[in-house]
Amino acid sequence: MNLAGKRAVVTGGGRGIGRAVCLALAAAGADVVVNYSGSAAAAEQVAADCRALGVRAFAHRADVSDPQQANELVDAAMKEFGGVDILVNNAGITRDGLLLRMSDADFDAVLSINLAGAFHCMRAACRPMMKQRFGRIINISSVVGLRGNAGQANYAASKAGLIGMSKSVAKELAGRGITVNCVAPGFIRTAMTDGLTDAVKQKLLGEIPAARLGEAEEVAAAVAFFAGEEAGYLTGQVLCVDGGMAM
Ligand code: NDP
Repeated sequence: MNLAGKRAVVTGGGRGIGRAVCLALAAAGADVVVNYSGSAAAAEQVAADCRALGVRAFAHRADVSDPQQANELVDAAMKEFGGVDILVNNAGITRDGLLLRMSDADFDAVLSINLAGAFHCMRAACRPMMKQRFGRIINISSVVGLRGNAGQANYAASKAGLIGMSKSVAKELAGRGITVNCVAPGFIRTAMTDGLTDAVKQKLLGEIPAARLGEAEEVAAAVAFFAGEEAGYLTGQVLCVDGGMAM
């Protein structure tokens, strides 16, 4: 994969899957804006690690649920790099609970970061991408968006919503050289899954043909694939990186 000269924005790039995506894109030669909302030190470290790979990189704080901050994130990439070629909407949270007990606040928080956040960033980035007549947008969905999961009505809605939104935007932008795809991870070893109890982890392992959790780097490899020039005829797709869980 050669991404030399490409300029990427990765939301939630300071840790977990986002961190692995930043490093994979940088290793392939792309300049990277490492977005974060709270993890400043971690994001600065990822940016430094990217620069050590020989690319330009900097950390930028923005809460993607705020449209103004999402605009400023893309503006920062434009100012420093002169363009945006790759947008990875990775920022995401969970606020799990059964439907009967799920609060409005928990529903809204998940939708506003996971779904509206991606909308804000895509809307901001598509303008420069349309001018360039080139763009790669990769949205991190989840197998939960395809299959549902008890206790995650809000999260599943956000991740299924990302798929419908990505396909719609893919149709709008295909003629401009911009592709929009989703990567749908299964259960990946990060802070998000570290909190699961051993009993839940054992139950999950039983549902995964590969019989193990995935690694963030395995998700990042799929993202880098979609980001490449070579993937230009692929759009509106959902690629599951899940050890066979959702097939
Ligand atoms: P983590 O909890 O490890 O990381 C979440 C990331 O999202 C952090 O970098 C965090 O940044 C960022 N973030 C949260 N809120 C905001 C916000 N308002 N604005 C900007 N950034 C924000 O999660 P993972 O790495 O595991 O998950 C990454 C993505 O992959 C998520 O979208 C998740 O839903 C998805 N996913 C994960 C799976 C898994 O098994 N781990 C499975 C399927 C999908 P900060 O710390 O700075 O707030």
